[in-house]
Amino acid sequence: MKDVSRAKAVVDLLGRLVACPSVNPGARAPGVGCGEGPMAELLMALLQSWGAQTKLVELAPGRYNMVATWQGKETGRSLLLDAHADTVGVEGMTIPPFEPQTRAGRLYGRGACDTKGPMTAMLLAIRKILDEEGQLPVTLHFSATGDEEEGATGATRLVESGLPMDAVIVAEPTEMNMVYAHKGAVRFRVSLSGKAAHSSVPWLGINAVEAAADMIGAIHRELPGRLQHQNHPELGRPTACVSTIKGGSKVNIVPERCQFEVDCRCLPGERRDHLETAMSGLLAPVAASYPGLQVACEVSQWYPALAGNRADAFIAHMTEACGAVTGSRASGTAPYATNGGFFSQAGIPCVVFGPGSIAQAHTADEFIELAQVEQAVDVYAGMIRSF
Ligand SMILES: [Zn+2]
Repeated sequence: MKDVSRAKAVVDLLGRLVACPSVNPGARAPGVGCGEGPMAELLMALLQSWGAQTKLVELAPGRYNMVATWQGKETGRSLLLDAHADTVGVEGMTIPPFEPQTRAGRLYGRGACDTKGPMTAMLLAIRKILDEEGQLPVTLHFSATGDEEEGATGATRLVESGLPMDAVIVAEPTEMNMVYAHKGAVRFRVSLSGKAAHSSVPWLGINAVEAAADMIGAIHRELPGRLQHQNHPELGRPTACVSTIKGGSKVNIVPERCQFEVDCRCLPGERRDHLETAMSGLLAPVAASYPGLQVACEVSQWYPALAGNRADAFIAHMTEACGAVTGSRASGTAPYATNGGFFSQAGIPCVVFGPGSIAQAHTADEFIELAQVEQAVDVYAGMIRSF
């Protein structure tokens, strides 16, 4: 039987969250995204009215983490529920991004799937336990983290804050599958500065585009093979993709500048410094063959891998709690990176779970199936109770 009040609560809260823009301004022009401020304000007021202590942490001007805490019956342990507050931009969307619409059992709008739908289910699970028991079984933190989409400074800062957490559940649209492992992602930006000259006398210049081409060839052939971890039974092999390039100014000028970016997906256990060493080991010999060329390589974004295992006690418990509601005790891996890797890297057991499909995340007509959000309320509640 359909629970009418549950359905209404989901549409009401998810609608409010979608109607509150929280676009990540990222590296785009200033003013394009508004950041997490309005969303953090909305959540603070709501969760204070639910008895939580709240804390706002500014990551950068206009960028925030919001953390709410409820003391539980059992005080010795604490669980963190994390859902990122930011969304991607709205360019090219074919539906009104911030005017939530419900049609045919779906709610449409930017962030409906990634990740305000999963966030709604998490919050209503907390509300459900508070309504039924008056208090949560353990101390519970809920974080609406900032900047997940463009470098995850929010998750980084949350881990560094020393907030006591014995385990973490990260909300993302996993189609109700328990995800215990995913690859990490590192994004490099390589900037080359050579010397301009007339193209009829190229030996008088230092060609930044040709040097970049040689570097890209080396990265394409060799970078994945130089990483420390080469194979994972479920995640497969590391990959590298050169994804942007800009260079040169005119066809008859030896190009002075070139910049390109590389997206590398690594396996659990790979450390950021290993990745940087592997990259510089490929760039240095090419740079040496262009005397006078200046090369700068920076890590623009870094998401560690989620390094769990199906047999881990926490994963097994969470999978069982999910199965008790959905009937499916399946768990697995995901191809994308999440905030979960930051907790995993700090040694904190973590799973990623939520309603909705990654296929609808970041899309022109983003939506989520409301029935899944409703069912996820019971799953998250079961996960909190069985922790
Ligand atoms: Zn997300």
